[in-house]
Formats: sequence, C-alpha cells, structure tokens
Amino acid sequence: MPQIFNLQSSILLPAWPDWGVFMKTIGLIGGMSWESSIEYYRIINQATREALGGLHSAKSVMISVEFAEIEALQHENRWDDATRILVDAAIGLEKAGADFALICTNTMHKLYESIQKKIQIPLLHIADATAATIKKNGINKVGLLGTRFTMVEDFYKGRLIDKYDFEVLIPADNDIEQVHHIIYDELCAGIIKPASKQVYADIIERLVAEGAMAIILGCTEIGLLVKREDSLVPIFDTTEIHARAAVEMALEN
Ligand code: GLU
Repeated sequence: MPQIFNLQSSILLPAWPDWGVFMKTIGLIGGMSWESSIEYYRIINQATREALGGLHSAKSVMISVEFAEIEALQHENRWDDATRILVDAAIGLEKAGADFALICTNTMHKLYESIQKKIQIPLLHIADATAATIKKNGINKVGLLGTRFTMVEDFYKGRLIDKYDFEVLIPADNDIEQVHHIIYDELCAGIIKPASKQVYADIIERLVAEGAMAIILGCTEIGLLVKREDSLVPIFDTTEIHARAAVEMALEN
C-alpha cells in the first residue's frame, strides 16, 4: 500500500482511506427476533455503501440466539437466565473481534447494564441513539410503541425522561396489550397483517391526539408493519436509527 509521511506529526498515513483496515468491526447480538436482525444486517451494509460507495461493506459479526427460549424466559420473568445467555453472546462477540456491540432489540436493553459490565467493549444503547436523532429534530414530546416491557417499565422510558428530558406518552392499557401481542404473535413470526397495521395506525392517532409530536417505533420489528404514511407526525424507527448509529461509530476515528 503506498504511504505518505505526515512529517509534522510523524504519523504514518495511508495515501487513501483503506477502510478495510480502519473501520471498526460491529458486533450484533441478534435473533430477537431474526425478522429484525436481517434488517440490521441490511441497513448496516446499505449505510456503509452510502458512506463509502463502491463495493464497501461493513465489518460485522453476529451471534444470533434462539428466540423461543428468550421469549419464554421474558414471559416467565426469568431475566437472570436471559442475562446469562446474552452475556455469553456479548463475550463471544468480543472474542470474535468486535470493537463495540449492539443488542438488536429494545426490550433486552432491560439487561443493558448487566451485559455491559461483563465485557470491555462498549455497547451502543438503542435509546441513546434514538434520543440523539429525535433531539436533532427539536422534538421533546414523543409517543412510545414497543413490547409491554418497553412501554410500561422504566429501563427504557426512564432513560428517555431522565437522561434526555423527553415527555413520553404510552398507549392506554388495552392498546398496550394489542401492541404487545401483535409483536410476539405476528411480527416476530414473520406475519404482516393489514388489520394489525390499522390497529397500530389507530393507536398512533390517539397518541398524537394526546400531544405526541413524534412516534418512536421502540421495537425492532414494528418498522416491518408501520410506515411513515401511517402517522401524521414523524416516525422514528429504532432499528434504522440504531443500525445507522453503528455505522457512524464504525467509521469515526
Ligand atoms: N425486537 C423486539 C424489541 O425491539 C421484541 C423482541 C424481544 O422481546 O426482544 O423490543
């Protein structure tokens, strides 16, 4: 590879960006569900090509877990067992050479701190990436859609409120159950129904009527069902945002 010397700093610089050498390797804890993990893979490579052109693609490694096992642990409230599985995956990514990692699901960010403390590489938090993107748009009151865990518990909503000063609206109890069941019974199983799209559109409309200035698709499969035209206010898809934030991190110095 031809090289030039930067004499002032005496740092050896390549004559052109040799991205294969300089880009970081993205680690992905996937499979929750694989319906959204393939979106992560697609978007990460798409965004890398947009940034660098030509045949450039992302350096990545994914460890994909068995979702039926994870789903059962979630609904049986066995979060410690789920943590063990995801910590093993994160350690595996680190050993495989990932420079940083993503948990490719909003819900499992419930375990973010427990996983982060078991590895040396940083975990890029999905809510941090999402909040940064929304803030750039001057929005401070958002409607949140996701699994019941994500909408009702504090690990996600609380981060948006405490760390980023958002006002976060969640759907009414009945609507929470519908949103939750459509995720697990349909979207994670690869089933896309027009009737469910309408259910989501109606729920979004109610959140907007309450004052939501934007809607967070806070579950990585919702973007498979809900599109921009299903909402009167801007939609922020956490899969897209998280995957693109990973590419930014992989390409920065
Ligand atoms: N992918 C979903 C999320 O983003 C739900 C599946 C899971 O429970 O991890 O929350």
